[in-house]
Amino acid sequence: MRTIVNAGFWIGVYLFLIMAPLFVLLIGPVPPGRGFWREFSVGLGFMGLSMMGLQFFLTGRFRHVTSPYGIDVIYHFHRQISLIAFAFILLHPLIIMISAPEALVFLNPISSPWWINAGVAALVSLTILIVTSVKRQKLRISYEPWRLTHAFLAICAVGLALTHIEGVGYYVQGPLKRWFWVGLALAWILSLIYIRIIKPIGMFKRPYTVEKVIKERGRTWTLVLRPEGHQGISFRPGQFAWLKIDKSPFAIREHPFSFSSSAMKMGGLEISVKELGDFTSTIGDVPPGTRAYLDGPYGTFTVDRHTAPGYVFIVGGVGITPVISILRTLADRHEKRPLQLFYSSKTWEDVTFREELDNLGRRLKLQVVHSLSDPPENWEGERGRINAEIMARYLPENRVDCEYFICGPEPMQMAVKKALQKLGLPLENLQSESFNFV
Ligand SMILES: Cc1cc2nc3c(=O)[nH]c(=O)nc-3n(C[C@H](O)[C@H](O)[C@H](O)COP(=O)(O)OP(=O)(O)OC[C@H]3O[C@@H](n4cnc5c(N)ncnc54)[C@H](O)[C@@H]3O)c2cc1C
Repeated sequence: MRTIVNAGFWIGVYLFLIMAPLFVLLIGPVPPGRGFWREFSVGLGFMGLSMMGLQFFLTGRFRHVTSPYGIDVIYHFHRQISLIAFAFILLHPLIIMISAPEALVFLNPISSPWWINAGVAALVSLTILIVTSVKRQKLRISYEPWRLTHAFLAICAVGLALTHIEGVGYYVQGPLKRWFWVGLALAWILSLIYIRIIKPIGMFKRPYTVEKVIKERGRTWTLVLRPEGHQGISFRPGQFAWLKIDKSPFAIREHPFSFSSSAMKMGGLEISVKELGDFTSTIGDVPPGTRAYLDGPYGTFTVDRHTAPGYVFIVGGVGITPVISILRTLADRHEKRPLQLFYSSKTWEDVTFREELDNLGRRLKLQVVHSLSDPPENWEGERGRINAEIMARYLPENRVDCEYFICGPEPMQMAVKKALQKLGLPLENLQSESFNFV
């Protein structure tokens, strides 16, 4: 109930803030109207800018804001709402030029006043930002340069748009309106200071040391992290944190990883990383004693938020990491409810935590169903991707009441969701974790 109230509260705050520039327009002396379409386009521009500015808060990982929804939902919202904000901002000059074609002269930057050029530059920055984000994978832009450019373009777009408003000067006259815009700009700058300076200072005070690096099956490595001079993070099983390793906490480069150890384990914690790209492929070479910093915990992919008579986990490849944490935690809590794990891997040798799952099977009421896409010759188990037929063979009779947790690559998640629908299972009982925010 508290979560719903909290979630509703933040939605209300969000709506109020995007409308705020319009309310402020009405305070004090209002300049004469310049025709419906012109004023309408200005309203859209103000709302679009307000939405863009709020993006800094959405991605600032403020715990009160993220916890009712889950940070993956917040990032999803960030992506979708930016398209709406972009449409609003784009419509602002388009409507003006269509309703008053004489405004087309402003397309010439040489003869246009500086504030018009600032507005155009804001729009160009925003367009590049949106295209490089939506098409990042198609354009083959790797994550790190994209992230730096993304932050730079966002600051440019918002800064230039504010300059444009100040330059036009139509709705910023009077101390109240002026202070509103100055306050808004300051709030955006403060949120950047919080993310880039205050948060890292907190991480700097709570360092970790890599105690061990353990080789697991399936090109995966487990980092055992020991907190230095503090108690460590207390997390819920299934949650994750951003990891910075062998770098200052102020470094831009960080990667999200689920905790793989039991949430009941005091002190040290574990993170298991599959070799995938330039950063993850170096994890096996990290020497013990290396400094690490964590920003977390985040995420709602946890059994602790969902009470059910039984849990079903459906994972592919490295998607096992949050689930192994959940299973280890449930074993430490002497869980008695029935649990099922559908685990799809390429080969039998690649099954990460294979032996650990056997051990957990002795401590829990856990049934593990392995499915291999490249099984050995004598394999008698399931083959190929997890589908409705495989699940139908094993799911318990009370399957409708169970809670389902899916973690794996996007195509696998889509296929499993369809399979669950085919089996008549309610999608509201479904939790999923995507290892890809962007
Ligand atoms: C919530 C969450 C939990 C995760 N848990 C695990 C886990 O327990 N174990 C595990 O092995 N992997 C996990 N991942 C995936 C892991 O973060 C990426 O595989 C890793 O960041 C890739 O980095 P790279 O430089 O080696 O690969 P690259 O080849 O550079 O990147 C591969 C893809 O990973 C994504 N990615 C890269 N860098 C980042 C970054 N800094 N932040 C976000 N995404 C990035 C991008 O979509 C990119 O296209 C998780 C991801 C998320 C979002």
